[in-house]
Amino acid sequence: MNSKLWSEMQQIAIGIDLGGTQARGALVDERGNVIARSEERTDAHGGPDRILSQMQRLVDALLATSEPSNVVGIGVSAPGPIDTVAGVARNIPTLSGFADFPLRAELQKRFPFPVSLENDGIAAAIGEWQFGAGKGLDNLIYVTVSTGIGGGAITDGRVLRGRRGMAAHIGHMSVMPNGELCPCGNRGCFEAYGSGTAFTRRARARATRCSETTLGANGNEIHSRDVFAAARSGDVLCNKLIDEEAEILGRGFTSLIHIFSPDVVVMGGGLSNEFERLQPGIQQYINAWAMPGFKDVEVVRADLGHNSGLIGSAALAFLAQENDRLDIRSKFVRGEHKG
Ligand SMILES: [Zn+2]
Repeated sequence: MNSKLWSEMQQIAIGIDLGGTQARGALVDERGNVIARSEERTDAHGGPDRILSQMQRLVDALLATSEPSNVVGIGVSAPGPIDTVAGVARNIPTLSGFADFPLRAELQKRFPFPVSLENDGIAAAIGEWQFGAGKGLDNLIYVTVSTGIGGGAITDGRVLRGRRGMAAHIGHMSVMPNGELCPCGNRGCFEAYGSGTAFTRRARARATRCSETTLGANGNEIHSRDVFAAARSGDVLCNKLIDEEAEILGRGFTSLIHIFSPDVVVMGGGLSNEFERLQPGIQQYINAWAMPGFKDVEVVRADLGHNSGLIGSAALAFLAQENDRLDIRSKFVRGEHKG
C-alpha cells in the first residue's frame, strides 16, 4: 500500500518505548496498526542528553516516512518509577544520570508535538486495553513477567495512576518477610520470586543438586527456554520448576484479583512466550485460592506481545489528544479559550 497516501487519510501517533536495553519507536494509526518502526540499542550509561538524542533520532527516522501534519502527539514509555504528574524521573535504576531529571519538559523542547510520558507498565496496560487482549473491557490488570515484574491497572474504564502517577508497581508487592533480595533493594518482593530471573536462578541452583535432570548437563548456562524445552521432553525436575513458577505467579495474581477485581489479568513479558505451559497452573491456583466471587477471573496472554508498551505509548498520545479536545470544549463554554 502507498503509505504516504494512507497516512493522509488517518491521524497517527508516535510511540516511543525506552527500555533498559532497546529504545524503539513506532508510528501507530488510530486502530493500533504499526505503520513504521525505528530501533536503537539504548545508551543506558550515556546519560540523559544521549538518551534524548536517541529518541530524537528514532522520531526523525519515523517522520521520514510520513506527513508530520497528521501526527497528534508523542507518547513515551520509560522504566520507572517516574513521577508522571510532575514529569520528572527521580531515579531510573536501569539508566544512569536520571536523578530528578525533568524528562517531559526536556522531551517537549525537542518536539513540535504534545508529549505524554508514562511509566512502562502503565503504558503496556494502556496498549492491551486500547488495542489488545483487554479491548472493550473496563477493568484489567496487565502484568509483565520478564527480567523483572511490572504492570499497570485499568479500573472503571480509566487508567489508574495514583499519587505521582506511579501506581501498580506490581513486582514490589511484599510476599515474604526477610525473603530473597529484589533489584529494588528490598527483600521478599513478588519480583524476587516470580520473575524470569528468579525462575532461572532457581533452575540453576536445583539442577546442580539433581542427578536425574538433563538441565545444564553439558555445563551449559541455563536459560528459561532450556527449562521449558527439557520439560517438554519429560524432564521431571524441569516440570516441577515450571509448576512452582505457575504457583508463585498464581499466588501473586490472586492478590491482584482480590484487590482490583479485574475482568481479566493480561500476562506479557518474556515468560508469556510459554503461556500455554504456565496458564493451567496459574489458573488452578486462582481457582483453589481466590474467594468464590473471583475464581472465574481469567488469565490471558498479551495480544500485542513485546509491543504492548510501544503501541500503548502511541495510544497514550491519542488519549491525551482526546482529553485536550474535551478540555478545550469546556474552556470554550467558559469563554477561556484564547486560540
Ligand atoms: Zn522489589
